[in-house]
Amino acid sequence: LAYAATEDHDRDKDIARLANHARVPVNVVDNLELSGFITPAIVDRDPVTVAIGTEGTAPILARHIKAHLEESLSPALGPLARLAQGFRHAAEAIPFGRARRNFWRDFFFHAGPRRLPNEGQEALHDILKTHLNTNAPTGYVSFVGAGPGDPELLTLKARKALDRADVVIHDRLVTSEILELARREAILIDVGKTGFGPSTPQEQINALNVEHALKGAHVVRLKGGDCTVFGRLDEEIDALEAHAIPYHIVPGITAASASIATIGQSLTKRGRNTSVKLMTGYDMKGYADQDWRTLAQEGEVAAIYMGAKSARYIQGRLLMNGANPAMPITLVENASRADQNIFVTTLADLPATLDSQTSGGAVLTLLGIAPRHSADLYQTLDTKEYA
Ligand code: SAH
Repeated sequence: LAYAATEDHDRDKDIARLANHARVPVNVVDNLELSGFITPAIVDRDPVTVAIGTEGTAPILARHIKAHLEESLSPALGPLARLAQGFRHAAEAIPFGRARRNFWRDFFFHAGPRRLPNEGQEALHDILKTHLNTNAPTGYVSFVGAGPGDPELLTLKARKALDRADVVIHDRLVTSEILELARREAILIDVGKTGFGPSTPQEQINALNVEHALKGAHVVRLKGGDCTVFGRLDEEIDALEAHAIPYHIVPGITAASASIATIGQSLTKRGRNTSVKLMTGYDMKGYADQDWRTLAQEGEVAAIYMGAKSARYIQGRLLMNGANPAMPITLVENASRADQNIFVTTLADLPATLDSQTSGGAVLTLLGIAPRHSADLYQTLDTKEYA
């Protein structure tokens, strides 16, 4: 093999010519045209090697991926891989499936890299022993807020949960980009609910959580936004508690936070509103009753979830309680997603704007607030560019 890396274009060219003449494969650094072969970038955790190749099209991309992998793969991974061979046989005493997978995950990615550098091989035997002593895995449920749709608005905890899930039970509001982050072997169950009433009855969702957890699975119950906001979380928790199934809650970014952020405003502001209401226009009993008199006052801010179909009712109640028809209202459709839309309107025009402008996505109604600057500005801002 010949490598030409003199940093002198003409000399490199000569070398390439000589090599070609002698029928020796040649690589001219950073010169795809003159190269007969290219070498991928590598991340070296000997004996583990990760090679990154872009066929010479984008060396900068390869460098980025390499930097990312260097960061995420512990330097202990090499030694651990070498030692793993000696543990293969012993690990077979751990039941096949999730339990054994857990051991190896711990070995390579968690306890292993943490303990090996200081405690040496003894630590690895210790890890094995712990896993051998664990009885059949008990299932549990992680209630995870998936945020408003942009996968970058997931919490690290949410990502980790998805990474470990055996079963992911998700709502319609959860985007496919987020579902793609689930562990490849995870079973995905769509219990999508449409605007009015669930398409999968709540009892059935409760039963699914229970059924899979009792089988020993780590169930991720993935809900749009934050699972504690209009998520019928308590009903699902009740069902788990009835079977003594452990659970925990991972908060997410709720639609109100995502929507207000896209229009450069605050949910609360000194001198304007010292409280903010998260409300729904519709509940199990029908139209939801609210303290309309307070909401009708100037300076009040409220985020209305599932408000599209009850807009006329909300408008009527507010006007009846003395609200100004010119009260500013901002509608944010599909907040944080690629197809996000912002509509600026007033109380008087709310139903008309909803009917004529929105296109059937998830809409959050921000009552009493307009974008800080023109809506057009926020419409065209791509926040990811600044991330
Ligand atoms: N738990 C969710 C809310 C579920 S109720 C959360 O915390 O965001 C469903 C309602 O949430 C929708 O009708 C809509 O009003 C709102 N919503 C959810 N995601 C949204 C998004 N990306 N953009 C705008 N509104 C959204």
